[in-house]
Amino acid sequence: MKLKKWWVIALIMILPLLFIMGNLKKKTIETAENNLKTINKYKNIKRVALTFDDGPSSECTPRLLDILKKENVKATFFLVGKNIKENEDIVIRMKNEGHLIGNHTFNHSQLTKLGFDEAVEEINTTNAWITNISGYIPEYIRPPFGSFTDELLSETSMSVVMWNVDPLDWKYKNKDIVTDKILKNVKNGDIILMHDIFESSVDAAQTVIKELKKQDYVFVTVDKMNSNKQIIRRDK
Ligand SMILES: [Zn+2]
Repeated sequence: MKLKKWWVIALIMILPLLFIMGNLKKKTIETAENNLKTINKYKNIKRVALTFDDGPSSECTPRLLDILKKENVKATFFLVGKNIKENEDIVIRMKNEGHLIGNHTFNHSQLTKLGFDEAVEEINTTNAWITNISGYIPEYIRPPFGSFTDELLSETSMSVVMWNVDPLDWKYKNKDIVTDKILKNVKNGDIILMHDIFESSVDAAQTVIKELKKQDYVFVTVDKMNSNKQIIRRDK
């Protein structure tokens, strides 16, 4: 009789313990499965960077920013310094809405055709304007026509951003052609070059965003594009 009582007590004590242990094991398996799902999700992620040169433009850029905001897409803008004047609110908006602001020289100059000091000034003045307005110090430059020198870049300590996909939007100024050229050529990790000074380019960007979202692309700013060979990073 006494022995039987002890068995009952032991059973009452052990049962909840077994229950807790069982639950813990289940939870551990669930966590491991979730982690694996997350890892696979990131492995399969396709990244693309939309970049817009030559703005800001009071006619086109605000509409593009509206589209990007609605689609929750972050882009990179390479600004021409002289176009910032009277468009300061657009620059502030870019910064506040999470876009990356880069340098595209002050006068859209071909830097390799200028004297060294003049070329440095083109870059530094544009950076100063952007910083004065937005508080942000640009780290990335897209040199107009892709022309630059190593000396220039070590002097200014900036990273250079070229591109992989060029739909020649400035030449065609046609939404359908530009959209088509981008969608036919884009692949994981690419940087797309466009200009936010043409209505047709803004229209194309809207369609490209919708189509690439359907293909599970995520849009990142160029600083989040780790392995792209079109970015030449400078050591600080
Ligand atoms: Zn340009």
